[in-house]
Amino acid sequence: MTMLENLIRQDVFTPGPVRMADDILRLGTVQTPYFRNEAFSQLVLECERWLLKIANAPAGSRVVFLTAAGTAAMEATVMNLLAQERPAAVINGGTFGQRLVDICELHRVPVLQVKVDRDPLSDGSALKELGKVDALLVTAHETSVGHLYDLHATARFCRDQNCLHVVDGISAFITDPIDMQSQGIDALIISSHKGLALPPGLAMVLLSPAALARVHGSCSYYFDFASHLRDGARGQTPFTPAVSIFLQLHERLRQIVETGIEAEWARAQSVAEYFRRGISRLPLAPYSTHMPNAMTALEMTNRASAMDVVRELESRHRIMVAPNGGDLRDRVFRVSHMGATSINDMDRVIAALAEIL
Ligand SMILES: *Cc1c(COP(=O)(O)O)cnc(C)c1O
Repeated sequence: MTMLENLIRQDVFTPGPVRMADDILRLGTVQTPYFRNEAFSQLVLECERWLLKIANAPAGSRVVFLTAAGTAAMEATVMNLLAQERPAAVINGGTFGQRLVDICELHRVPVLQVKVDRDPLSDGSALKELGKVDALLVTAHETSVGHLYDLHATARFCRDQNCLHVVDGISAFITDPIDMQSQGIDALIISSHKGLALPPGLAMVLLSPAALARVHGSCSYYFDFASHLRDGARGQTPFTPAVSIFLQLHERLRQIVETGIEAEWARAQSVAEYFRRGISRLPLAPYSTHMPNAMTALEMTNRASAMDVVRELESRHRIMVAPNGGDLRDRVFRVSHMGATSINDMDRVIAALAEIL
């Protein structure tokens, strides 16, 4: 088998990329249409309208579409909304929280870190000691450890402080309840290859009117929100977008709006719960007590190495799950429930795990 054949026969249960539905997949095989015209503008405007509806964004909100990985949207948000002289607080409970810290520091935004380990933040105690900040940055689902934060609690903090609530919702959007109005979110960062179950390449930032008012001149040519918002008003992007992924995004959003986002949450929840029941007799324990529907992080309860389990799932079953790095390398691995994963798919993973363990 060639390397390419090997790659395309993988069964992915990683937190990005995720399995795509067949009809969406087929849309990815058409010729790329021209995009500097009215027809494509209409498609982009409809995508913006549907995204804002699905996120229950407040009236007057807008979307910036970037052709980039999710991290670019994180960095662009910091560059366009935060400032060097004004401190921001960052919830740091894993790799993605740390990434927000690193991005802020690179751009010389003073950071107050809230270091937490699987604290849902619900009781507000972790935030009590924080001084005055201009923004609070939180990862809705800290994908590195499969842990969900209480966005209502972080929203309360932001309301009291009158600061921006910036949420990296990349691995929560679509599978887990995200509601910009009830969770008081000012900037919601999302990307194409997680819950939306599209190819990687599109990253989006949903901006509330309060966030829009804070957009300032950015030192980046490509990531300048002001120019994206200006062109976006007529359904265009300043530079060539990932046109093909936009076609798939449009169809995916159309379907979600038609059935309602609640159905997506329920579907992901039932798949996640089915998987968690299925592995309950195996020497594995959930790593967090506040797990998202998007994914399950599992800790080994026997002496086997998590990294060996990940390798054997791939070599014996072509099943791709996500290993952890650092201290958790031998203790934790992660199984995603995002995208077009069914109960049958979970049965395959459960059976493979039972055989290996
Ligand atoms: C996947 C992910 C990202 C972005 O990753 P990219 O590789 O840059 O697309 C950011 N935040 C979270 C929480 C994620 O799960």
